[in-house]
Amino acid sequence: EATINKIAAGEVIERPASVVKELVENSIDAGAKSVKVDIGSDSKGIFRIRVVDDGTGMDRDSAVLSFTRHATSKLSDISDLLKLHTMGFRGEALASIAGVSKVTMITKMQTIDVSPGTKIVIEGGDVLDVSDIGAPDGTSILIENLFFNTPARKKFLKSRQTEFSHVHKAVQNLALANPGISFQLNHNGKEKLATIRTSNLKETVAYIYGGEIADQLLEVKGMTPYMKVEGLCAVPSKNLPNSRDIIISINNRSVNSVSLSRAIKRGYGTLLPKDRYPVAFLNIILDKKIVDVNVHPTKREVRLSREKEIEGEISALVKKTLESGDL
Ligand code: ADP
Ligand code: MG
Repeated sequence: EATINKIAAGEVIERPASVVKELVENSIDAGAKSVKVDIGSDSKGIFRIRVVDDGTGMDRDSAVLSFTRHATSKLSDISDLLKLHTMGFRGEALASIAGVSKVTMITKMQTIDVSPGTKIVIEGGDVLDVSDIGAPDGTSILIENLFFNTPARKKFLKSRQTEFSHVHKAVQNLALANPGISFQLNHNGKEKLATIRTSNLKETVAYIYGGEIADQLLEVKGMTPYMKVEGLCAVPSKNLPNSRDIIISINNRSVNSVSLSRAIKRGYGTLLPKDRYPVAFLNIILDKKIVDVNVHPTKREVRLSREKEIEGEISALVKKTLESGDL
């Protein structure tokens, strides 16, 4: 079991940013309204990752079970695999992380009775402690000594600045995909990102990139029988950053999609100056039957049925938005 966890961890957990992504996605799945990520690093790299949420929390039994491979509360039967509600890793992430680090979880279920919280300490997959503890509702997970028992993986890590920038990017994308959740990211005690929950993506963009950028964005809005698209885009101008990033989320999960990025670019047509990239944030809500987001766990490449049709809709929508120019 320990070996399996180590091997699996290599697949799922590439670097600190992948840990952050898995933990934050669990917080989102747990209905958190607020997610705080705290990173500690020194010259040797990132030595602390802490994710604190105010989600449902877990009782003692579920908390212990959550570290077992294939323990997931998110699949009730096999047919659910075909219409995943969440993008969880089908019960692999926590087991994998705990196999290659020291994890301290403190969790308390949101209940009206006075049952205490639970503290669990696991190192390299070995359970060191399970005890009662006073705790606020929700879950806090602390990861230390990442890759302590997988030296090859550890050697592959880049400088702490590079690793933190991956973490920053991951949290940024998660925040943009979930405007309804407040996010905070701290690095060595300094606040690096903070959003406040809103129903308006533009506000989230303003929190992350500043109001000047948010003000130049046009609202993208579209609806088909199987898809709802909400987002923002802009014709690049001098004072908009020329970033390579088109940020796309599907069903509130940040994804990479070459084909959708291409579709967005096509929507710009001749409005896109030669040396510029599109500026676009799209949240796409798709009928779960036509999306498989679990093709590759870390790469987040999506597979869509009716892909051509969806690409066409997205291109047309972006084109219409840019041409109308309504702010
Ligand atoms: P998955 O997300 O695919 O279910 P994970 O290994 O990421 O697999 O998590 C295992 C289980 O642990 C989840 O299904 C969930 O029940 C529980 N869990 C993990 N993190 C949290 C959290 N922050 N709040 C509440 N429950 C959680
Ligand atoms: Mg998960």
